[in-house]
Amino acid sequence: MGWYNKRLAKSIWVFHVSASPCNNCDIEILDLLTPRYDLERFGIKLVGSIRHADVLLVSGIFNQKVGPRVQQIYQQAPKPCFVVGIGTCPASGCCFKDSYNISKNIKDIIPINLYIPGCPPKPENMIAGIVKLVEVLNA
Ligand code: SF4
Repeated sequence: MGWYNKRLAKSIWVFHVSASPCNNCDIEILDLLTPRYDLERFGIKLVGSIRHADVLLVSGIFNQKVGPRVQQIYQQAPKPCFVVGIGTCPASGCCFKDSYNISKNIKDIIPINLYIPGCPPKPENMIAGIVKLVEVLNA
């Protein structure tokens, strides 16, 4: 596991799942790829398939429709797969938490290793969160 984490710390491939968000978080994630923030300079890149990813980035809330899909995507990920929850939605449900169709225990759907809070979080906060992840992987 140690060597695997060291490899991840150099180049993290990320797959993003948008699970019923309001889309603000998704727009901020896209900002990370623009020349202004240029996330790829850290060796971090978004990939088009969960089967190629080391990290699953989840934004939005898990409702009864999307929850099983997110679970299915997580099951297809090569393990270990680190899950990062973007925004307040995956952490606490945010403004959707009392909705009738929200899965009651979000943590039963997939394990989330790191939360980046905010509604939506700023790109700078997301970069700081990902740097924290790299530090944890290097420890
Ligand atoms: S955390 Fe806020 S900005 Fe992000 S998807 Fe949820 S409601 Fe939207």
